Amino acid sequence: MVVVLKTAKTACGNLIELKTFNKNLKEKKVLIIGVFHGDEPQGKYLIDEYLASTVATETHDKSILFIPCLNPDGMAKNTRTNSNGVDLNRNFPTKNWGRNEGENATCDDTTTPYFGGVTPASEAETRFVVEILAEYKPELVLTLHAPYKVVNYDGPAERAAQEISKIIGYPAEGSIGYPTPGSFGTYCGVERNIPIITLELDEEIPVEQLKDPVFKIFEKIVYL
Ligand SMILES: [Zn+2]
Repeated sequence: MVVVLKTAKTACGNLIELKTFNKNLKEKKVLIIGVFHGDEPQGKYLIDEYLASTVATETHDKSILFIPCLNPDGMAKNTRTNSNGVDLNRNFPTKNWGRNEGENATCDDTTTPYFGGVTPASEAETRFVVEILAEYKPELVLTLHAPYKVVNYDGPAERAAQEISKIIGYPAEGSIGYPTPGSFGTYCGVERNIPIITLELDEEIPVEQLKDPVFKIFEKIVYL
């Protein structure tokens, strides 16, 4: 049975939910997050399908925490940012928050889709994730993005990234190749040493075709 552990409301009043199969979280806890960016809807589809599938209900004792859609406001408008025009993946309270470091890190420019917010963790969505990390202390985190076809990792997650790479066939890489101040990878992996995988999915194939590899990753992830 799927249970809702925690909720938050966005600026537009949409609900963000933290779900799991079992309230008695015993073994290694893994947090999986979909739709950091509103124009990357694959994560919500895949997590919702997984939560509804028999494969999931038959293995319901696994301690996986899911946020199917972190950015419902952005998803409704098909924008990368949330309804305040903030890139949630630049809004985390990291040491390098707000630092302008090149093309994809113009964090103080409200006209770009990489605006990091007025203050660190200014957004309800960011604070929801920060609270969950403190409250549930996941030992591994997986976020679902698109479209780069890469298994990016931060913190001590190289081995897990390689296992995921074997399942989905994208390369495992330690750095995305450009600075990402205020990113969740930096907050979680670099500054807190929590292994985090940023899985960049293929958006050129029908999303249904991603179910097979992604469900396999969900099945294996507590053992990685
Ligand atoms: Zn993304």
